[in-house]
Amino acid sequence: MKNIKLPEDVRMILNRFHDNGYEAFIVGGCVRDALLGDQPKDYDITTNAIPMQTEELFHDLKVVETGIRHGTVTVIINREPYEITTYRTDVKYSDHRHPDEVRYALTLDEDLSRRDFTVNAMAYNEEKGLIDKFNGVKDLSEGVIRCVGDPDTRFNEDALRILRCIRFASRYGFNIEKNTESALFRNRELLRYVSVERVASEFNEIITSNKAYEYLSEYRIIFETVMPQLEDLDFSLLGKVNRRLYMRLSALFVMDDSLSAVSMLRHMHYSNKIIDEVSALLDHVDYPLETDYDIRRMFFEIGIKATGDLLSLKKARGDDLDYGVIRKRIRELRKSFIARDQMNINGDDLMILGYRGREIGQILDDLYEQILRDEIKNDHEELMKATLKGSN
Ligand code: ATP
Ligand code: MG
Repeated sequence: MKNIKLPEDVRMILNRFHDNGYEAFIVGGCVRDALLGDQPKDYDITTNAIPMQTEELFHDLKVVETGIRHGTVTVIINREPYEITTYRTDVKYSDHRHPDEVRYALTLDEDLSRRDFTVNAMAYNEEKGLIDKFNGVKDLSEGVIRCVGDPDTRFNEDALRILRCIRFASRYGFNIEKNTESALFRNRELLRYVSVERVASEFNEIITSNKAYEYLSEYRIIFETVMPQLEDLDFSLLGKVNRRLYMRLSALFVMDDSLSAVSMLRHMHYSNKIIDEVSALLDHVDYPLETDYDIRRMFFEIGIKATGDLLSLKKARGDDLDYGVIRKRIRELRKSFIARDQMNINGDDLMILGYRGREIGQILDDLYEQILRDEIKNDHEELMKATLKGSN
């Protein structure tokens, strides 16, 4: 395990609490990441000061009441937000998702006990060093995700933890401790209490992880509880495309069809952007991509970048193509590609020649087709001439 080195601003925050008689620690994901030698995304701080006292203590800085009901205020230093949360204990979860009530706790131990997994339940400051009540370091070094406390109870309180568990395991390639693992399966029906957005956001992290195939296969029936559309889908192509979300989702459905992809993505409230990206790929994956014309046509249909993605998708599903050659050809053709709106002729030119209405669109389409086929240059004179000829 690596030593934890605090960034200057974090040290300043902790010191200020300390100098004023409060306790404060960095906690959760940032401690885990620092011990793993990864750069923490953000630093969360836990303290026995209540939000009002924290606000008072940092009155000279920008403080935002981001989650006052949960005991959280955010201090902003050099544009960087630091979430500072009062020690708390969560009581009674009647909806299997949110605590009915959040109570401040007196001790750090109590606060750590409410956290989900041992590797997420460690705290650190320079005076006290690492506080690791649940042997998170051991689990971290052995590669184990384990619930803090009784797994059935913890998943019952908040069913989202079921997916978080698989998410952390897949992110780090960890194993899930046996009791925790069997509780995942036993409590999977509780996932129905989790909103589709939350399910989708955990699923996205898992499907874009290095070991998506392994973890989704292992825990398939858990996901199927809330994503029945996954039934019969083949996960084995996931590792064959890059980790971008739309690529992974496309690989998930490439042996199925675009309609069921769209139906699942809509059901799970994915953004229109993702849905468009995935369906563009799936709708074109059966198109040929061999000749220069095929490639230019695809540039026009779905865009240059998506054409490269389409080739990857074809490769993942095992199409019999000379990928290296086509990849190279895509790189070459993109340099000279003429987009539809870059044609050196337009509707006004054709009006001058006497064309009207729908004829104009038709002629431009034909000319563009000839450009894609490399039968004509994108040269104003030449295009005008071709138009005259065509009108005879
Ligand atoms: P990431 O790197 O994905 O942000 P993280 O561990 O920081 O991982 P967050 O969702 O940012 O995860 O939560 C911060 C901390 O809050 C966690 O490390 C954990 O201690 C605690 N926590 C978050 N969600 C839950 C939950 N549903 N149940 C219990 N504790 C939680
Ligand atoms: Mg975090």
